[in-house]
Amino acid sequence: MNFFKFGRFSSFQIKLPLTPRWHEIKVKIFFLTFLFVISCSHTVSSQYVNNADTIHHIDVISDILLYKSSVKKNSENRMVRLKEYLHPLITDFKYATYNNFTHRILYTHPEAYLRLPVAMALQKVQKELKAKGLALKIFDAYRPYSVTKEMWKVVPDQRYAANPAKGSGHNRGEAVDLTLVKVSSGEELPMPTGFDDFTEKAHHSYRDLPEDVLQNRALLKTTMEKYGFRALSTEWWQQ
Ligand SMILES: [Zn+2]
Repeated sequence: MNFFKFGRFSSFQIKLPLTPRWHEIKVKIFFLTFLFVISCSHTVSSQYVNNADTIHHIDVISDILLYKSSVKKNSENRMVRLKEYLHPLITDFKYATYNNFTHRILYTHPEAYLRLPVAMALQKVQKELKAKGLALKIFDAYRPYSVTKEMWKVVPDQRYAANPAKGSGHNRGEAVDLTLVKVSSGEELPMPTGFDDFTEKAHHSYRDLPEDVLQNRALLKTTMEKYGFRALSTEWWQQ
């Protein structure tokens, strides 16, 4: 797996003295930490992520080896590029712009990655939507743990951001933020709010909306759930 050229990880930083030797170690830890974070599957307890928060030691190498062997035993755990599964892959990586709730650029070279079974399920969702002249637009998929920590600093509220002590579905490559667009024009279907609107209006239970908006939200939710996704109750865009 060659994730290393994936620019989204460039925001990761570890504070170590920058002598040449430390620099080398820092680069190694950078890559190993990334592999470690993506190794957390839903069957793994949150202690993995807790450990990831304090990875300043080489001890983590044993976990990387565990990760590698788990993927070797079950290649279904691997991360894949979403562009190989969705045609077309329509994206709007909000975290690669200032237009997000942190008002900071969190990704420099964004690309959508998800676990293989998740990508395959999303492929089925898109196929079904295509028959209706619709497609998915992806806002975010796999999210590096370092970015989750940055977000928590801005919104330390578990309804809207993942507590780094537990990590998130995004960190594990299992969650995706998305909306519906018309294939013909690329135009987004009207939804209750914009992306990352942390108000009640973004909740699935919120009903005081125009009928077409309710239908669009329901279409996204039911189609996603048909293929195994589970909607987050407070964010219409997250499955
Ligand atoms: Zn999300």
